Amino acid sequence: KISNTKLTRNILIAMVLGLFLGIVLNVLGLQENAFVNDHILDGALGVVGDIFIRSLKLLVVPLVFVSLVCGTAAMDDVRKLGKIGLKTVSLYLLTTCIAISIAMALAFIFKPGVGVNPTGVEDYVATEAPTIWEVITNMFPTNPVSAMAEGNMLQIIVFSILFGLAMVVSGKAGQRVLSLFSDLNEIVLNLVLVLMLIAPFGVFAKITIVFAEQGVDAIIELGKYFLLVILALVIHAVVVYPTLLKVFSGLSPVQFLKNFYKVQIFAFSTASSNATLPVTLETAEKKLGVKNSTASFTIPLGATINMDGTAIMQGVATVFIAQLSGMDLSLSQILMVVVTATLASIGTAGVPGVGLVMLAMVLNQVGLPVEKVSLIVGIDRVLDMLRTAVNVTGDAAVTCIVAKSEGQLDEEQYNADPNAA
Ligand code: ASP
Repeated sequence: KISNTKLTRNILIAMVLGLFLGIVLNVLGLQENAFVNDHILDGALGVVGDIFIRSLKLLVVPLVFVSLVCGTAAMDDVRKLGKIGLKTVSLYLLTTCIAISIAMALAFIFKPGVGVNPTGVEDYVATEAPTIWEVITNMFPTNPVSAMAEGNMLQIIVFSILFGLAMVVSGKAGQRVLSLFSDLNEIVLNLVLVLMLIAPFGVFAKITIVFAEQGVDAIIELGKYFLLVILALVIHAVVVYPTLLKVFSGLSPVQFLKNFYKVQIFAFSTASSNATLPVTLETAEKKLGVKNSTASFTIPLGATINMDGTAIMQGVATVFIAQLSGMDLSLSQILMVVVTATLASIGTAGVPGVGLVMLAMVLNQVGLPVEKVSLIVGIDRVLDMLRTAVNVTGDAAVTCIVAKSEGQLDEEQYNADPNAA
């Protein structure tokens, strides 16, 4: 049996050590030293960090498929799935709208872009983002194997649900396959635990590298933007989610955090909601007490479509770019930003840096200069880590609220001491 308590503690220590070492290396300018760069940052730490990320990614497709098939097939009432789906998507959209509104309001108050006069940055070339109609069409795979090979999460979700539903109506055959899938589910979850053993090393490596390479000067120059994004992220995480948890479900926000903070560290160090998925799902089921039939659906869905932290960055960034370009946003443009950013968050995957791609699309919509995105690219990595932590928190908070309202949350487990596993 693998001890969870020690692991969480070790991951926390690894994060602090990584932060410290990274900043020290950066301040001493050692990241520019050829030896340190080739053999430590790119070499030893790079390898450990990459193996960590790879081992997480490796779990995502089998985990989502197996877990969601089990979840769907075990639904006693198929209509329930529709109800859960509707509630979840509505809450995901609502939280994203709130997030971007907070971000834009703060940016209007504190005006991060006024007086910033950036020089010497290359133009950012925007990538095409899909329209909402393309996103909907593309949810349906033409080939489940290629959906899995590409790791296309929405397609995998749709296929798994269809497969699970078919099992429900297949009588004996469905029952037999369900017991196989239940066994597989058990095994994949244990695989998560096994691969988790390297997590402390991976977290340490990833964080050291980012902070060693991140220019502190760049951050200071764009300090107001940087701090505002963080402020909005903090408000969303410590005010909005706790309030929703308390008001909608009467669940303790403090207990939520106690159960969940390990996942936030994972999200922070990987900067990817997708890579964090195995840990989010495990925590939702084993610690937050959400039944597999709900969590296996809402968590992967959230990792794909719900990105509140990303929306926050986009809200601040849009206003920031408008201000430094000397443009005033009209009310209709502001509404346009809220709507596009919310919809854009649906179609983009939870991998590092996609937030900027979506930002370009939002800017395009309201006629702001897309090439200005290049200004914030340089300091985006640390913000990416922070907003990813908020993104996964949103997935879990909404999951708890929906699960509670559908009688799919075991409150005893939710309130149990998370370390007494
Ligand atoms: N890295 C974020 C995530 O995976 C997305 C983004 O904002 O770039 O959730």
